[in-house]
Amino acid sequence: MSRFWKPGTEKPRIVEDEEGGILFYSASPSSSGQGYESLRQRLPAYKYRTDILYLVETHATTIVVGETGSGKTTQIPQYLKEAGWAEGGRMIACTQPRRLAVQSVASRVAEEMGVKLGEEVGYTIRFEDITNPELTRIKFLTDGVLLREMMDDPLLSKYSVIMVDEAHERSLATDILLGLLKKIQRRRPELRLIISSATIEAKSMASFFSASRRIHGREDEEHGPRKVPAILSVEGRGFTVQMFYSEEPVSDYIRAAVSTVISIHDEERMGDVLVFLTGQDDIDAAIQLLTEDSHKRKQELIVLPLYSGLPRADQDLVFSPTPRGKRKVIFSTNIAETSLTLEGVVYVVDCGFSKQCFYNPMTDIENLVVAPISKASARQRAGRAGRVRPGKCYRLYTEEYFINEMSADGIPEMQRSNLVSCVIQLKALGIDNILGFDWPASPSPEALIRALEVLYSLGVLDDDAKLTSPAGFQVAEIPVDPMVSKMILASNDYGCSEEVITIAAVLSVQSIWFSARGVQKQLDEAKLRFAAAEGDHVTFLNVYRGFIESRKSSNWCHKNHINYHAMKKVDEIRQQLRRVAQRLGITLKSCEGDMEVVRKAVTAGFFANACRLEAFSHNGLYKTIRSSQEVYIHPSSVLFRVNPKWVIFHSIVSTDRRYMRNVISIDPSWLTEAAPHFYQNQLFNPRPH
Ligand code: ADP
Ligand code: MG
Repeated sequence: MSRFWKPGTEKPRIVEDEEGGILFYSASPSSSGQGYESLRQRLPAYKYRTDILYLVETHATTIVVGETGSGKTTQIPQYLKEAGWAEGGRMIACTQPRRLAVQSVASRVAEEMGVKLGEEVGYTIRFEDITNPELTRIKFLTDGVLLREMMDDPLLSKYSVIMVDEAHERSLATDILLGLLKKIQRRRPELRLIISSATIEAKSMASFFSASRRIHGREDEEHGPRKVPAILSVEGRGFTVQMFYSEEPVSDYIRAAVSTVISIHDEERMGDVLVFLTGQDDIDAAIQLLTEDSHKRKQELIVLPLYSGLPRADQDLVFSPTPRGKRKVIFSTNIAETSLTLEGVVYVVDCGFSKQCFYNPMTDIENLVVAPISKASARQRAGRAGRVRPGKCYRLYTEEYFINEMSADGIPEMQRSNLVSCVIQLKALGIDNILGFDWPASPSPEALIRALEVLYSLGVLDDDAKLTSPAGFQVAEIPVDPMVSKMILASNDYGCSEEVITIAAVLSVQSIWFSARGVQKQLDEAKLRFAAAEGDHVTFLNVYRGFIESRKSSNWCHKNHINYHAMKKVDEIRQQLRRVAQRLGITLKSCEGDMEVVRKAVTAGFFANACRLEAFSHNGLYKTIRSSQEVYIHPSSVLFRVNPKWVIFHSIVSTDRRYMRNVISIDPSWLTEAAPHFYQNQLFNPRPH
């Protein structure tokens, strides 16, 4: 048998293993794609190929449920293409909630089909379009990008089948998309929908799609696909996973995760470890701890991060098979819960938390918090250990907690998000009655009203809650948060569009600083070199100028603790935003160092996030003007400890306190200038202490 991998041969790949045995490897299938045939046929989805195609042919909507790794995402679009759904210039779309998943599955499918990514198989995520309008037949995209495509093509007429994948995640964009697709179906009976997910309450999704407002007479019933959705369950071949709970509640889950990894490595047989943490900061910290703690094991461990925004080369490392005698340890966010399949994982460590966004319409604050996951998520995470052979899952919480305290399901994002972007998109698509929209899960009326109010203040909606012309349509057109769009539009009036577009680009990436444990002091010193008294936004301009003057040098970035990949992304996004701006008639102009106009433009977009330093407090306590919420400047801000009297923030993160990220100082008179309705008289009322 040629199943043992020989060192030196190219790209070995796990094909299967034997119960209790070592993992076997064989050479990678040939690049023509033909070698994938047998791998593809071994996936659980393959057994259902005919059923899937039959149901799609005969039903307007097909719901496919199947566990992670069964082949839903990578196989179904290929089956559809093989069956002719992409003929006659039509396309097959498959949406994902996450950008990284879009890139990863698209390149996998291109590889399986033996085609070049960007030709027959392509993908589109915000700010990155790897498709060819002439050639692309299967297109992976985020659900948010598909929503944007509806602005130009409301019936999505180029697609014959749209597969909404990972529907169980209930992301905001997925839910909006489902509501809109249901409407499109009534206008386009030939369109087919596939809704697929790992764990959906398939029945509730099915009843959402069956409940039609009005039956269009008998003709509809007799011709064309059946309107009642079909449900198909793809049986996986998951192995049993043995569960372990921590005996006592865990106080520091990063440390607990790292020591669990070390004991797995010392005591358990070979097999990769997948650790679920909450975000990049956790992951970086854990990797640092593990590498410090495991000197003697260094030869045997391959320690890798996995989170969105990870550079391409690092993503590939995660997916490449583990060489014999080594053990891969992957520290991941939620993304490995269902969106991506990692082969070779036998051990899962689950910290029990994930980063979630919660919006409170009363305080008007959107918080990104580390919050407990649901039982449904915990089960998904555990299931990742049973892909290749019986596995083990270590839960860093007690069994009592799992049984009695974890909620059964998560809350759809729709019901815990700021709805400003959602409302503007629906308005731009001509949906005026937002409260009466047919939602898979209704948002709270308070959150909707709050969003309408903010959009009204931004000058995007008029008194009848219709998009204003041109401002409202322009804001909707720019593919960023409406507050950022508004800031860009305002920069035209202030003559500082070049600067403001740079700021908008920086705000679109996670962080331009390179942070790691143990280098905090150097990072702070590096920041000082760029720090501007006005705040973070102006500091970004200094960094970007330095980057351009260094001729975009990675060396320069390295010396200044700046993330080179992030800066390259900023540069790309900046070019795209400039093109959109020009199309909208914005004059590209620099204010040549006049930072007051830049701050005014920022205020024009972000006035709703204004805060005042509380007069009698010495530890930098601020309160939001709108709702008197207590907030502090984040230690990563250049204004930390500087504490100007009036500031505007870009976002809030909560840990022990609510911290403002990306802060700029302003003059309060600009607020009334930017949003007289919003602030009325509340600015200068003396407040009791
Ligand atoms: P599902 O969508 O049902 O979770 P996928 O279609 O994503 O399943 O994956 C099916 C199988 O394809 C996985 O079990 C895995 O073996 C393989 N696979 C998917 N993506 C990759 C990748 N990037 N690298 C290697 N194998 C992959
Ligand atoms: Mg999938």
